[in-house]
Amino acid sequence: MKIVIAASEVVPFAKTGGLADVCGALPLELEKEGQAVIIVMPGYKTARNLKQPAVKRLKEGISISRIGKNINVYFIDNDEYFNRDSLYGEPKTGDYQDNLDRFSYFCKRTLELLKELKFAAGIIHCHDWQSALIPIYLKTLYAKDDFYKSSKTIFTIHNIGYQGLFPKQEFPKLGLDWNVFNMEMLEYFDKINILKGGIVFSDLVNTVSETYSKEIQTKQFGFGMEGILNKRRDSVFGIINGLDYSIWDPSRDKTIFKNYSFKRIEDKYVNKEELQKISKLPLKRNVPLLGIVSRLAEQKGFDILSEGIDAICKMDLQLIILGTGDLKYHQILEQMVKKYPKVISLSLKFDDTLAHRIYAGSDIFLMPSKYEPCGLGQMISLRYGTLPLVFKTGGLADTVNEENGFVFDNYSKDELIKTIKKAIKVYKDKIQWNELMLRGMKLNFSWAQSAKRYIELYERAKGK
Ligand code: ADP
Repeated sequence: MKIVIAASEVVPFAKTGGLADVCGALPLELEKEGQAVIIVMPGYKTARNLKQPAVKRLKEGISISRIGKNINVYFIDNDEYFNRDSLYGEPKTGDYQDNLDRFSYFCKRTLELLKELKFAAGIIHCHDWQSALIPIYLKTLYAKDDFYKSSKTIFTIHNIGYQGLFPKQEFPKLGLDWNVFNMEMLEYFDKINILKGGIVFSDLVNTVSETYSKEIQTKQFGFGMEGILNKRRDSVFGIINGLDYSIWDPSRDKTIFKNYSFKRIEDKYVNKEELQKISKLPLKRNVPLLGIVSRLAEQKGFDILSEGIDAICKMDLQLIILGTGDLKYHQILEQMVKKYPKVISLSLKFDDTLAHRIYAGSDIFLMPSKYEPCGLGQMISLRYGTLPLVFKTGGLADTVNEENGFVFDNYSKDELIKTIKKAIKVYKDKIQWNELMLRGMKLNFSWAQSAKRYIELYERAKGK
């Protein structure tokens, strides 16, 4: 099958979160399964400057690179739109004002590029609102275009909280007829909602875990999209993300201090000690070290975490936090570091190497997300023998349980604190702790299984 992956971020070219991990790993697995895959993404500054794999100019406005054995990655270049320091906006000023121009350009140019390449795709797999205009354009502007008559679209929602909402006045920029601006299609309370259009116009919709695919059809988790998703419920699926174990494997990971596996678990503690050193925390082997690698956002549980942080810091533990996000949480956490310098270490940045070292060196991985479409952190930490502590939601509910970590199912600071206390108690029992660690490390969330499920989904779309 000829498959196009169209996404706004792809590892190793550009990443702000799990979307990039997925769009970098799934194509590799599809290729292994014998599928003909290409990727199209915006030509951001970070991508254009990458040395390995090299990105080269193919022609005016298009660059190219290659991953896997033979997967061409095409970049839609446009200096005005994509030659910037960030992908979607700046931390201080928020989203770029011209995001609709940027990503509608990306989608239009992608559809033209496929024609220029004569790549007659069976499946165009789009991800999140930034590529959601592709299915919309296919069913409108390109409805009578012979080149696309056999192309079907899959739309994967990685996080329904980000919908691409824009003022109605910007609608003419899209080049669409006003007749699609209605409550059944692109309109949402007098605004343009690009994600909603993606849900309506794609052939099949999926999200990144079974539980989340059900949750988003409810008022509590749907962010206003529950109605439209309910209407399409026979076309909505859930496929859990896999992990790329060529990147996330403590026995081969070149960024950690010492490699280890479930057969050499002692060496994990070399990582703990080195992590304590670089984090300037006291070297204490028997005090549980809690790690966080996350966007600092309410979605990731930082509301209850900041409510409870003072009490948490008073416990017999150490806490290492790596992340960037809402200024509010930066400030709260900075205050805590001043108050408890021997307990908390804080790095307010995006740092891939440090992330690997935290997964390897911590004992417990804290991920109390309020909602979590899939979540990679808990799967990574399981492989690194770092027990996840999570709120029971979305992909966290599908991957973590009492057999491999700690789960609470009432979203509140008190429950979070109670569960941390419970984890610390178990931590003192070395035999039980080792059993939990080993069980987690042996779990397999590789892409092989999930890629097979995507191929089934593609087949289903083809049959529509
Ligand atoms: P998200 O909702 O942010 O996509 P996921 O759990 O799906 O959450 O994926 C987050 C990914 O980004 C993981 O690979 C995690 O290790 C990584 N990550 C998040 N914040 C940072 C950071 N500050 N530095 C390095 N890596 C980070």
